[in-house]
Amino acid sequence: MCGIIGAVALRNITKILIEGLRRLEYRGYDSAGLSVVDNKGQINSLRRVGKVQVLSDADMIQKLDGSTGIAHTRWATHGEPSEANTHPHVSQHIYVVHNGIIENHESLRELLIDRGYHFTSETDTEVIAHLVNWQQQQGGSLLKVVKTAITQLRGSYSIVIMDIQDPSHLVAARSGSPLIIGCGEGENFVASDQLALLSIVHRFICLEEGDLAEIYANNLSIFDKHNNIVKRPVVELQTKYDTSSKGTYRHYMEKEIYEQPIAIKNTLEGRLNRGKINLSELTEKQELLSVVQHIQIVACGTSYNSGMVARYWFESLAGIACDVEIASEFRYRKSCVRKNSLLIALSQSGETADTLAALRLSKELGYLSSLVISNVLVSSLVRESNMVLLTKAGTEIGVASTKAFTSQLTLLLMLVAYIGRLQGQVISKEYDIAQALQKLPARIEQILTLDKTIETLAKNFVDKKHALFLGRGDQYPIAMEGALKLKEISYIHAEAFAAGDLKHGPLALVDNEMPVIVNAPNNKLLKKLKSNIEEVRARGGWLYIFADKNIYFSNNTKMKIIPLPYVEEIIAPIFYTIPLQLLAYYVALIKGTDIDQPRNLAKSVTVE
Ligand code: GLU
Repeated sequence: MCGIIGAVALRNITKILIEGLRRLEYRGYDSAGLSVVDNKGQINSLRRVGKVQVLSDADMIQKLDGSTGIAHTRWATHGEPSEANTHPHVSQHIYVVHNGIIENHESLRELLIDRGYHFTSETDTEVIAHLVNWQQQQGGSLLKVVKTAITQLRGSYSIVIMDIQDPSHLVAARSGSPLIIGCGEGENFVASDQLALLSIVHRFICLEEGDLAEIYANNLSIFDKHNNIVKRPVVELQTKYDTSSKGTYRHYMEKEIYEQPIAIKNTLEGRLNRGKINLSELTEKQELLSVVQHIQIVACGTSYNSGMVARYWFESLAGIACDVEIASEFRYRKSCVRKNSLLIALSQSGETADTLAALRLSKELGYLSSLVISNVLVSSLVRESNMVLLTKAGTEIGVASTKAFTSQLTLLLMLVAYIGRLQGQVISKEYDIAQALQKLPARIEQILTLDKTIETLAKNFVDKKHALFLGRGDQYPIAMEGALKLKEISYIHAEAFAAGDLKHGPLALVDNEMPVIVNAPNNKLLKKLKSNIEEVRARGGWLYIFADKNIYFSNNTKMKIIPLPYVEEIIAPIFYTIPLQLLAYYVALIKGTDIDQPRNLAKSVTVE
């Protein structure tokens, strides 16, 4: 989490830093700060609690002038959001911005206090500034002292360090949190992700674990964890920053919900060919994929929910055993690796700390291979995985994921069909899957026209404290996703249950106040689901049922049926997600919460 940006140039970089922070704000938004220094060593700093807007609105910002600088938008881990805790942190002439957690900050703090340092914040980050300062007093260049200082840090970090006594360069280090170098003409930049820099540079270098970089305006040196000078690949991106405006939408989340048809269309492009699914990225791995006997999916949050849907697909369509685990559990648990098991890691940003750790662990555990599905090409997971599939959802800014989720599901379904074919399982079904996927963007266009109906429905939820979501089969993880969306942005406590499990405990929660949202597509589980609906009705719960328009419900008391158009069964999980996203969005809109940047959350979770 948190966004870092740094620049070494020959022009005033204040505006570049502020704009970069704005674009990184989805990573953290409780406070923001920057320090810029001119070539005479004149330093200007500004820190503010609140969003980047508060910082950029400050009168002083217009007066700041400097050609070297660092900036930070924070997602507090240690110490409340306050001006004193806002980065950059300072130790005399050393300035530091940091993303991550220094786990041994307490012992380092004691050590540094003993050495005479005075702390002005409660953050773990401040120890880095003092440590570098102390090391510098022992002698050596900034690069050398940072190299020594970081050997004493435990935990995860990406840091950018500036010594205002020598503003000709910055030193950056990466261990556990992402860092990208943006290479310009006569100027260089560093940031948490390329989004921050897209309109300024097109050439990027992704620092690898343990890398240290010395960044001058005209020169750049990278050292690996063994202190060897290394050359890292330069990636050229011609992508434009396409999210600078919300257009006519009120929120990025709203825009991203409506972008789903195009996000899915782009994800499908070039991958469907006359009823066949073609994942050319995997052509060279066909032999390997044809012997996979087990799939282990690791993911967090929304990506975990899409992994759960994929489990139903892998087992029912491709006949391959599949398990799904939350990455933060997987990485710290001793697990047994099945024979010929493929590890699939899912992450929108490609930087999710726990998922990245799980991927790395899988390499030690003896998995057959690894495959990552991500929405970001220049990312750690993509770089470190044996196989990669990219969704083409475009940049997702809203913290609550929408188009990245449905694009991820689209790609997962293609992967299931593809591996299934290689294993001789789904040849007959592949055509139907491809046909259904082809129609998916249009189906979603159609369901999005229900927005007004759902907006009206949302009014019923505004005063609620709790809500339950029910689904069966592949709709159970969609119920989980619906509950997650509602929690994230409307702050209503929501839980999802497999409808058949209701009577084993959760039914006790149902009373006259409890809204229960059910996804009811027309499939072979419908009869069973209808019995569960009756169980809720008998206890006085309010039912909101998203159902295929052809389903007949005999009794409508305390039941609101929202009829949905026809959809092919195989893509129903993706289709039925849309009304739940709209419901969460409109409830939050009426409640007036901060939809794009909900409290306590940040988008790209780069701390564990
Ligand atoms: N641990 C640091 C802090 O709480 C950095 C948090 C971040 O990554 O935003 O300030």
